[in-house]
Amino acid sequence: AGDHVVEALQHADVAALLPEPEAESDKYRRGVVGIAAGSARYPGAAVLAVGSALRGGCGAVRYVGAAGADVVRAHPEALVGDGGPADAGRVQAWVVGPGLSQDTDAERAVTEALAAEVPVLVDADGLRLLARRGSAPANALLTPHAGEAVALLAGVGVTATREEVEGERLRYARMLARAYGCTVLLKGSTTVVTGPEGPARVNPTGTAQLATAGSGDVLAGLAGALLAAGLAPRDAGSVAAYLHGLAGRISSGGAPTCATAITAALPEAWRSVIAGD
Ligand code: AMP
Ligand code: MG
Repeated sequence: AGDHVVEALQHADVAALLPEPEAESDKYRRGVVGIAAGSARYPGAAVLAVGSALRGGCGAVRYVGAAGADVVRAHPEALVGDGGPADAGRVQAWVVGPGLSQDTDAERAVTEALAAEVPVLVDADGLRLLARRGSAPANALLTPHAGEAVALLAGVGVTATREEVEGERLRYARMLARAYGCTVLLKGSTTVVTGPEGPARVNPTGTAQLATAGSGDVLAGLAGALLAAGLAPRDAGSVAAYLHGLAGRISSGGAPTCATAITAALPEAWRSVIAGD
């Protein structure tokens, strides 16, 4: 039951889910997101994920990893530490994986983020490391593109090609959600979000202008911030995909855009959802 039900969120649904600070709130009550991302080779993924998380409605962004100097130069608002998730102060959600590489430090970051017992978004290299485990915590949100979905499927003994995943996106997203026991956001031309049970959500705001380097890192930071603000994994994933698509459209206006510009357009996307236009 509910297996074949597909929903598409609209402006009003998303507006109702957006976190809004209460008058008595403070940065800790709004939620702190931890981001374990980036590496000496890929510092930009960390900078992008932190940048979008800062615009995602939580109260603070805590970064751990090898790109701390780059992160703090780009975003003086970020709290930066070296070491791994276990060394960081308390956070309400983790994002692990963008640009992380797959070395022993990366493995440690994934292990510690998964052990933190808060919602954890796993993306990119984090997914390739997760595939070796073949399972995830129930409050995890996995954000693969088709190639990462193929690796995740291989981790649970399913052989599929990228083309097969692209051709049956809902079916494979659901298969992954069941096999890993958590929520899956399968990225691509039509982004779908599903848990092991219940209706799947299809994002109506996507645009092929989002197919640009770093775009997925922006989505990961944004969804992580929404998790930290208290949204359930399927709401955080589908609201993030919705805003990300709108920001892509706004920043593009038909012309090529880039991940930094998509991030810069997130506040306008957010305002347009609130305004209902
Ligand atoms: P990544 O592959 O991790 O960089 O993520 C790419 C982002 O761009 C994801 O949010 C995808 O859903 C989005 N994207 C990629 N290709 C397309 C497309 N053809 N149409 C719409 N969105 C896309
Ligand atoms: Mg990616």
